[in-house]
Amino acid sequence: IDMATLGTGSTGTGFSFGKVGPGVTSEPHRHDEIEAFVVLSGAGKVRTDLGEIPVEAGDVVLFHPFEAHVLRNDGDEDLNFLDVYWRDGKAALDAAAKVVAPRRPIFVFSTPPTPNGDLHLGHLSGPYLGADVYTRFLRMKGVEAYHLTGSDDYQSYVATRADADESTPAKVARHYANEIRTTLALLDCEVHSFLPTLGDDAYAEFQAACFRSLLSSTAVDLRQSPALFDAVTGDYLYEPDVSGLCPDCGGSTSGNICEECGSPNLCHDLRAARSRHSAEAPVVGSVLRAELALERCYDNIDRHLKASGAPVRIMDLFARLRQRGDFSVPVTHPSEWGLPAEGLPGQVIWVWPEMAFGFLYNIQALARLLGRDWNAAMPSNDWQIVHFFGFDNSFYHALLYPAIYAEVFSHWTPRIRYHVNEFYLLDGQKFSTSRGHAVWGKEILGPKTVDIVRLHLGLTRPEGERTNFTLDALRRTEKEIFQRIWLNWLDELDQEIKQDFDGRVPDAGDWAPADRDFFTRIEIH
Ligand SMILES: [Zn+2]
Repeated sequence: IDMATLGTGSTGTGFSFGKVGPGVTSEPHRHDEIEAFVVLSGAGKVRTDLGEIPVEAGDVVLFHPFEAHVLRNDGDEDLNFLDVYWRDGKAALDAAAKVVAPRRPIFVFSTPPTPNGDLHLGHLSGPYLGADVYTRFLRMKGVEAYHLTGSDDYQSYVATRADADESTPAKVARHYANEIRTTLALLDCEVHSFLPTLGDDAYAEFQAACFRSLLSSTAVDLRQSPALFDAVTGDYLYEPDVSGLCPDCGGSTSGNICEECGSPNLCHDLRAARSRHSAEAPVVGSVLRAELALERCYDNIDRHLKASGAPVRIMDLFARLRQRGDFSVPVTHPSEWGLPAEGLPGQVIWVWPEMAFGFLYNIQALARLLGRDWNAAMPSNDWQIVHFFGFDNSFYHALLYPAIYAEVFSHWTPRIRYHVNEFYLLDGQKFSTSRGHAVWGKEILGPKTVDIVRLHLGLTRPEGERTNFTLDALRRTEKEIFQRIWLNWLDELDQEIKQDFDGRVPDAGDWAPADRDFFTRIEIH
């Protein structure tokens, strides 16, 4: 077969003249371009994946991407044809995707950050890089996976920041939600659905409905129980309002959750408690709140954790909680910042239970973007959920949420996996926004540095134990791994292509199913 190139148009477009002598058969080939043969003279047969057809002068044969085709001249005169081909990325991807079997969707969540500040390397190295790399890996393997997160706007820490800044919680939340999105983009963190919880009426309605359902469950009661108050101002104290010593490990902690051991507390059980509002020792009073009697949920939690293969650290946290006996967790708090708790004037739905339902709402928000029918009110047993979070969020994600889901969605058996990270230290100490001991994402991330930072965080992130970040170590990774190994390899590849192939990437040749599968994977990215 003789081919003469007549010309090329834009990239991937070309015209050739071809001649096939009598009795000659062209080499079978397939490629990503669409191709057409216009038979000018002679006669023969064209064989494709679908079969063989006779062709003669005047016929036009069109080949889809990756469709194998062979032209055979079985006549006794030359077969002359005009060959036209062009590249259509979408058509190629659609054709290649046909070899990939559909699977269950996997929803990968990184903990929605609290918009009371921007993200530093401590945050980024944990849930955000983890969920991003994990999701990219799954998608490369052809799995339908999505990375979801958002801004957890109703956190009490947002209101505290607004107090300090003499601003409003809503302004603070909107401002830092934007900063956080920018920083995630600088990290090349691909987020398929980012859900701000503030200012979305449908979200608030969904939360109210879930809360009503939770209130009517047998594990939730309205209960007058001990609570902590400021001795001078009378303010109700929880979360950032109060600090003291953890009832479980004895380490210093804020209200409700211990950063050190991960155990929950009830604020009034903190030793040596101190209020944010005054120097006086806080006093224990009582208040009527909706409370989840967690001990009634222990069997559900146990079953869930075993089925999900939860990490040992989480199983240990659960064992320690069970040893404490009955443990009722308030799911509403007196506060002005949050979604109102129906029937409890002046109280809000605690932002942590809110997050349990927020994950489901985010799946529905993603469905809207994709034109799918995933429904937050009807979570499906087909869904695989994967959570990336810091160890100090373990109680909420792995113990509280499965308990809540079992109360509200009795038909649903959640399939959830947990990826926990420990603290990333900076020069041997915890990152601290208030002490200014932090390297902010925006300080270090840019188009030229992002790959190096991602590589370094990937190598050093605190997966099983606390690890340490230093700028020197980052520079070493840059020199010894990024430059010496990766960039040198790239240079050598460039040299080989120049020497052996005249500086042009050689044609892929025959496209086997594995090649087409790989093409789908890289094209999705
Ligand atoms: Zn503790």
